[in-house]
Amino acid sequence: MRVYNFSAGPAVLPEEVLKEAADEMLDYKGTGMSVMEMSHRSKAYDTIIKEAEQDLRDIMNIPDNYKVLFLQGGASQFFAEVPMNMMKNKKAAYIITGQWAKKAWQEAKMYGEAIDVASSADKTFSYIPDCSDLDIPEDADYVYICENNTIYGTKFWELPNTKGKDLVADVSSCFLSEPVDVSKYAVIYGGVQKNVGPAGVVIAIIREDLITDDVLPGTPTMLKWKTQADNDSLYNTPPCYGIYICGKVFKWIKKMVGLEAMKALNEKKAAILYDFLDNSKLFKATVDKKDRSLMNVPFVTGNEELDAKFVKESKAAGLENLKGHRSVGGMRASIYNAMPIECVEALVAFMNKFEEENS
Ligand SMILES: *Cc1c(COP(=O)(O)O)cnc(C)c1O
Repeated sequence: MRVYNFSAGPAVLPEEVLKEAADEMLDYKGTGMSVMEMSHRSKAYDTIIKEAEQDLRDIMNIPDNYKVLFLQGGASQFFAEVPMNMMKNKKAAYIITGQWAKKAWQEAKMYGEAIDVASSADKTFSYIPDCSDLDIPEDADYVYICENNTIYGTKFWELPNTKGKDLVADVSSCFLSEPVDVSKYAVIYGGVQKNVGPAGVVIAIIREDLITDDVLPGTPTMLKWKTQADNDSLYNTPPCYGIYICGKVFKWIKKMVGLEAMKALNEKKAAILYDFLDNSKLFKATVDKKDRSLMNVPFVTGNEELDAKFVKESKAAGLENLKGHRSVGGMRASIYNAMPIECVEALVAFMNKFEEENS
């Protein structure tokens, strides 16, 4: 039996996709082998990766002057790839809205001057700072954000005013959750294990003029975007099976009629949970209303023992992975694209019952 899985990542995938993959496990479309067993240079795999890219381009409306790369190393390796490939003036502006933004910032400091132009650390990252008029240096190479903060449950609903500088966004935990205007970004990237597929794949959407040989000295061949772009993500063996599953998820989104529909569904699911939290006498959402994520919903009772009791009892009731991140405590429900609305309803019903029993 499958549980209600509220994990922040790796996280729930569409059941339909998992079943299809299971059906194709031993013999992918008459090839007599699993996708795990085939050459990444084979005709069958070439079709898989090309279709995945085209489907992603269709879903996100990616302009022709952007490259789509399927990479390895996780989002964390990309923290270094950004400065290595973009820090021509050795200067960049970082907006610190949580642990992932902070890690990216610290990584960038190894390569140049990474300036924290805004931060919400003063209130445990429970809000998004005003980014309408930041002090961005004239010679900054880019402005960096983590668009959805997985741990703290905040989201940039308005992109920062970058004063004309290139915007780089880590969208790991909000990838494909809503329509995006790709042209507003220089680079959009994310690890797929939150909202798109299995761990081991990073998708990067990069404006072509940023893909050059002019990288920082010492940049490894593999981490140079040009190497990957020139070889259509097949410079070496890519994470073949992961890309194949991502491709299936793209088709699943296409079938649901795209990102507008995905966003509407995500809003509906999140509203069920936030409405309950805002009316509860026991539970409380931790994020300012205007900055709330549709994907990650942290909440607390205000009493650590009661939080622990909730996590334990919810698990026994088949609601898994509701414990908050180890750095913040409390609870967190991650309700990504593939989380059925019934699971959110089941969570709220359980919270309601818990509230009655414990107040
Ligand atoms: C999970 C996560 C990361 C780290 O991803 P890895 O693939 O494990 O390196 C980075 N950024 C965000 C926003 C995340 O949610």
